[in-house]
Amino acid sequence: MGALPKRKISSSVRGQRRSHNALKVTGMSKCSKCGNVKREHFACPSCGFYKEKKETKKS
Ligand SMILES: [Zn+2]
Repeated sequence: MGALPKRKISSSVRGQRRSHNALKVTGMSKCSKCGNVKREHFACPSCGFYKEKKETKKS
């Protein structure tokens, strides 16, 4: 027999532990042009601007 836990982790204790496990959405910011939520270091999806310049490329 290998190492085993002394007692069962109850569902509430397990949930308390996992309460800290949620992933956070990071790297989000507001567009300085239109105020929409956009990803940091990416051009705005709604107006296509990044650092006062138009960055939409049609390829
Ligand atoms: Zn924008």
